[in-house]
Amino acid sequence: MNSTDHALQAARPSRLAQALRFDNAFVRELPGDPVEGPQVRQVHGALYSRVRPTPVAAPRLIAWSPEMAERLGLEATDVESPEFAQVFGGNALVDGMEPFAANYGGHQFGNWAGQLGDGRAITLGETVNAQGERWELQLKGAGKTPYSRFADGRAVLRSSIREFLCSEAMHHLGVPTTRALSLVTTGEPVLRDMFYDGRAREEPRAIVCRVSPSFIRFCNFELPASRGDTGLLKTLIDFTLRRDFPELSGSGEALYADWFGAVCERTARLMADWMRVGFVHGVMNTDNLSILGLTIDYGPYGWIDDFDPDWTPNTTDAHGRRYRFGTQPDIAFWNLGQLANALAPAFASAEPLQAGLDRYADAYNAAARANIAAKLGFAECRDADPELMGRLYGVLQAGEIDMTIFFRTLAQFDPAAPSPDLFADAFYDESRRKSVAKDLSDWLARYAARLKDDPLPAAARREQMRRANPRYVLRNYLAQQAIDRAEQGDYAGIHELLDVMRRPYDDQPGREAFAARRPDWARNRAGCSMLSCSS
Ligand code: AMP
Ligand code: MG
Repeated sequence: MNSTDHALQAARPSRLAQALRFDNAFVRELPGDPVEGPQVRQVHGALYSRVRPTPVAAPRLIAWSPEMAERLGLEATDVESPEFAQVFGGNALVDGMEPFAANYGGHQFGNWAGQLGDGRAITLGETVNAQGERWELQLKGAGKTPYSRFADGRAVLRSSIREFLCSEAMHHLGVPTTRALSLVTTGEPVLRDMFYDGRAREEPRAIVCRVSPSFIRFCNFELPASRGDTGLLKTLIDFTLRRDFPELSGSGEALYADWFGAVCERTARLMADWMRVGFVHGVMNTDNLSILGLTIDYGPYGWIDDFDPDWTPNTTDAHGRRYRFGTQPDIAFWNLGQLANALAPAFASAEPLQAGLDRYADAYNAAARANIAAKLGFAECRDADPELMGRLYGVLQAGEIDMTIFFRTLAQFDPAAPSPDLFADAFYDESRRKSVAKDLSDWLARYAARLKDDPLPAAARREQMRRANPRYVLRNYLAQQAIDRAEQGDYAGIHELLDVMRRPYDDQPGREAFAARRPDWARNRAGCSMLSCSS
């Protein structure tokens, strides 16, 4: 297809134009950069820049999410149409789309990093479905924007597969997240130095269409605040309240305070969810925390295999381990502190912001207690239960025990016949198994006594535990296997994983391999245990 065809396709009322209705509140209601196009620049007094995706050689749809498509009102025939690959590969626009890159600036690894912005993400538009839900469609890896700084605006296939699969896996786990509609390859290579060690190689390139009610992050507020632009800051707060928090009422500073408290609570619940399922984000910079409390920006994330609160998948963070599994709730709180600093000019005093931060601790503790009850199968969390859970975590860590397998298996535990043999499959190392055998037996005896004292009947307990402890998570090595195949042109591994992860809490006969512990070969392999920000 040549460029004239693209232009015609955009002009004609296409099947996508019939299916999707756009209402682009962000660009309509907020001040934008008067300059258009991708040349790199500092942008003051504006919250976004208009820029179009860079066309690609040969866009090809290789995977899509049926649930997300349906939610948007798209039929399979819409998604599989040639027009879809053109649009979601960045070669054409649908009537009503007004592409832009957002301007923001934030903290990276604890330090102020100045203006960042969407360096490779381009929003196409905000679509409103038949139920009135607003979904922003955003291409990641769609080419240069004014915020690309020194980089190329592109994304490699491996990181795009990881973002696509994990977005949908998280959704099905019931963890708040941005979504993914489609994964399109471009037919062009891209150069990447995966571990920043001078060994760059050409990799296939791809574009994910991610979808969210809002892509506003903490850092969107930080940039105008850092520049002393309180007018712009307030404009953005008022917009966010109107569009993204319509459930909040009131006015003035009381409304602002209520909103900040709500952001703190959502973030707290998200952290409790991550800790429940064993997800490590890997890069909790302020540009990667969503104002809606959604998991956002899937980069060098990872899933806990053997339980280890000190583990980080991100080699870029290997030295300080700032973003290791166990510190995520504290780091989220640190990020909320940065957001509070940014919002301070919109408040007469710091007191309401401090009250909001206090809501974080309360909400996190409540959610963490609810998780203890859910994961261990208790009717409610009693005051001694956090200590019981803490003990278990100690045993899991000392024994290098697989977190997902252990908790899933725990539902089959019989308090009348407590036996550690039930958990044989969850161990990675025989000597570790022996060294924690007594501690595990002691813990199981305590647990059995606690269960006998709990009012929940056994069947209800097992059901509750199955709903809190997934059988299938997107283990790092599983994603890497799908990536290895995809890099050879075989996309079936992606489709199969996507399908398995649609029902993470169900036992899926015939798919036991997807629930197995990490194989030995994956222990120290790039992509399986080590990931970098190079994506
Ligand atoms: P991330 O670590 O992916 O959240 O990215 C941090 C910042 O770097 C964001 O402003 C991104 O838009 C930008 N960025 C990351 N990778 C690229 C790339 N390949 N091209 C342009 N900008 C990028
Ligand atoms: Mg980011």
